[in-house]
Amino acid sequence: MSVRVRIAPSPTGKLHIGTARTAVFNWLFAQHHGGTFVLRIEDTDLERSKPEYTENIMQGLRWLGMSWDEGPSYQTERLALYQQQVQKLLDQGLAYRAYDTPAELDAMREDQKAQNQAPRYDNRHRHLTPEQEAAFQAEGRQPVVRFKIDDDREIVWNDMVRDAVTWKGRDLGGDMVIARAAAADQIGPPLYNFVVVVDDIDMQISHVIRGEDHIGNTPKQILLYEALGASLPQFGHTPLILNQAGAKLSKRDGVTSISEFQAMGYTAAGLVNYMTLLGWSPPESLGEIFTLDAAAAQFDFERVNRAGAKFDWDKLNWINSQYLHHMPPAQLTDLLLPYWQEAGYPVESLERSWLEQVSALIATDLVRLDEAATKTRYLFVSDVGFSEAATAQLQLEKVGTALQAVAEALEQQPLSAETVQSVIQAGVDGAKVKKGLVMKSLRAALTGDLQGPDLVQSWLLLNQQQMDLPRLKQALTLAVS
Ligand code: GLU
Repeated sequence: MSVRVRIAPSPTGKLHIGTARTAVFNWLFAQHHGGTFVLRIEDTDLERSKPEYTENIMQGLRWLGMSWDEGPSYQTERLALYQQQVQKLLDQGLAYRAYDTPAELDAMREDQKAQNQAPRYDNRHRHLTPEQEAAFQAEGRQPVVRFKIDDDREIVWNDMVRDAVTWKGRDLGGDMVIARAAAADQIGPPLYNFVVVVDDIDMQISHVIRGEDHIGNTPKQILLYEALGASLPQFGHTPLILNQAGAKLSKRDGVTSISEFQAMGYTAAGLVNYMTLLGWSPPESLGEIFTLDAAAAQFDFERVNRAGAKFDWDKLNWINSQYLHHMPPAQLTDLLLPYWQEAGYPVESLERSWLEQVSALIATDLVRLDEAATKTRYLFVSDVGFSEAATAQLQLEKVGTALQAVAEALEQQPLSAETVQSVIQAGVDGAKVKKGLVMKSLRAALTGDLQGPDLVQSWLLLNQQQMDLPRLKQALTLAVS
């Protein structure tokens, strides 16, 4: 049997990290088995579905590196198929029209509540006579279509993550609505559990891999597979992503959509690597930093955990930093350019090779891409401004003399990796101070602060733009002697 899996997002919001992680597991499973990964857009909720969310979802999947082999298909384009299948169940007597009004259903639930019973449909319209149906229709009632669920059924499946799962028919809430209200000679819009099954059968999905929040739908869906005469796929319910308090990660926890992570400066490779670890324990040989392809070679459901996976920002940051620290400067430059542009730095007029040196300089200092603009500001702007600590450093005794000597030496010989030490030495000798003081003061003068990336390399980069001497002279106006 060939492996065919799908990701079936509803375009009612941006690509959520939970959906993306489900996509990761499906994608890895498909790759591992040389199977097919299908994208299906579940857009039957007309009010909440929006084309811009579909676009956001597809962009997010592509960005993360999970392209699909088939699709996207849209459920709104498949309504005729669903109606045909509802009709089939009606014809076979496996489904029926129910004419209850909302008020009647409310009253039924109130009664159940009063008797401490769980709310359910009591199947009261399962055996209406043609005369009863005609009477309801004459009242103008619009029926829904309900699928019969046998209370005495036991539904068991062998879950790829949770092993044997058992449900009782009586716990499924009574005969379930599969199509919304419509005139009695028509079939209204079909509902989620029904369309998913029709689609999964039609698309020959072999493994339904989805979040654990869908586990209660699976027994209903299994009954529908049987009713539609289809063989069952394998089901795998992956653990949820939890917040630090152990509750399901939700919008209230702040950043949850992939495009937000992207905007924050996470790399696609780092984020997808981290998501793979949310619920999957890789074999030791793979380590914790790996590509999607390397993970796919090893991926199996034996190592997918049952327990929810806590979202851990520190771990994500660490993984992302590993990607940035080891990224070739050319690639890092491509990723940093938009951040530099946004900060207003004149990147268009700067040489690419210089920009790549800047990238190489700060790579090991970065956790997220968006930090780069602040961390490299001193290399791009002519008026850097001096922090309080830098100003205090510049005003220490003898610092002015040392920097003056450095500036003079700089005017006499071109700066290079070879000459830089003798230029520094000129400051040491000129003011008769320790080298440490000169270095710290140079950092204050050249970068405007006391912390930052490698000083000598920063200086060489500033020098290539002829920014070092003016900055030294500016610093000297603050120095006292
Ligand atoms: N559309 C559903 C969702 O976004 C997924 C359904 C499924 O995977 O079966 O949660």
